[in-house]
Amino acid sequence: MQVPLLDLKAQYATLRKGVMAAVSEVLESQCCIGGPKVAELEAKIAAISDCKFAVGVSSGTDALLNSLMSLEIGTGDEVITTPFTFFATAGCIARVGAKPVFVDIDPLTYNINPKLIAAAVTKKTKAIMPVHLYGQMADMGPIMEVAKKHKLTVIEDAAQSITSTYKGKKAGSIGTVGCFSFFPSKNLGGIGDGGMIVTNDKQLYDRLLIMRNHGSNPKYYHKYIGGNFRLDPIQAVALLVKLSYLDKWSEARRRNAVYYDKKFTGTAVKTPYISPDCVSIYNQYVIRVPKRDELIKLLRDKNIGCEIYYPVPMHLQECFKYLGYRQGDFPEAEKAANEVLAIPIYPELTDAMKDYVAETIVSLVG
Ligand SMILES: *Cc1c(COP(=O)(O)O)cnc(C)c1O
Repeated sequence: MQVPLLDLKAQYATLRKGVMAAVSEVLESQCCIGGPKVAELEAKIAAISDCKFAVGVSSGTDALLNSLMSLEIGTGDEVITTPFTFFATAGCIARVGAKPVFVDIDPLTYNINPKLIAAAVTKKTKAIMPVHLYGQMADMGPIMEVAKKHKLTVIEDAAQSITSTYKGKKAGSIGTVGCFSFFPSKNLGGIGDGGMIVTNDKQLYDRLLIMRNHGSNPKYYHKYIGGNFRLDPIQAVALLVKLSYLDKWSEARRRNAVYYDKKFTGTAVKTPYISPDCVSIYNQYVIRVPKRDELIKLLRDKNIGCEIYYPVPMHLQECFKYLGYRQGDFPEAEKAANEVLAIPIYPELTDAMKDYVAETIVSLVG
């Protein structure tokens, strides 16, 4: 049996007609930049995120970058974030000239540990950038408390967690802004790169729109230095087709997670911990095992897809050497990087596939 980590071809087989028709409509219209379809997607993403405004952008990375630029975060500023994330989180902070300041994670949820944030706040701190990893939101209550106390903005990196909730509140709706990615492997993935920013702040919304288009308003009059952060209508229409399936897909992922959880009960496999405050969309189902590297070899032999998200924490990345961090600075992030493994959780998995994956893992790990 073959079980890939993600099977986008299986998903596309059910969407082909709708996506082809929608893409063809864009091509016939030759409205290739912006337009009503992007606006329609923005309105729908704002609605499902319980936010007033949404701005379609070229990627999740550009959602973070535009947010930082529009909030005027730059040289001399510090932004507190997690070292255990995809590179874009810390990369964007550094790209605007600010300094990423890391604090360790909660070893159960893998998200930033809110108890450690206050000690990292300095006079230069401008923002906190929590990441909602694997589909589960960070502990936003105490994060917002620290932010309020020190007057910091909060940029939610919700790239992996669209429609996920914390105490009933949607990802992206708690902080100052929320950033989504439509990278094809996310729960709502486009047919290429794309992203979205959501906010309830009208002033910030206006700025995000201007920054998305080289900071110009009106055309050719540049008040700010922005970029080309636009979302293509081709992506928007494909995403509109997929959006109607998003909740069903997330339900299926949660059902798969329950199935695995049961299969792993009483074994040495540590299953994902989901806080009672959260509903996860399981962008990834990440287990923790002692013999991980041996397990990866076995899974490859058995044609089962798996991946380490992420093998090197940000504070140990070569490009961030100048920040002066060392091995041992964030022990929980470092430990997680050595032990975590994502296994197939995509909606189209059959019970036989899940059985095969789980039994293969238990056969080695015990
Ligand atoms: C995917 C992802 C991003 C970047 O999104 P892209 O659309 O690939 O640019 C940022 N942060 C996190 C946590 C992600 O998972």
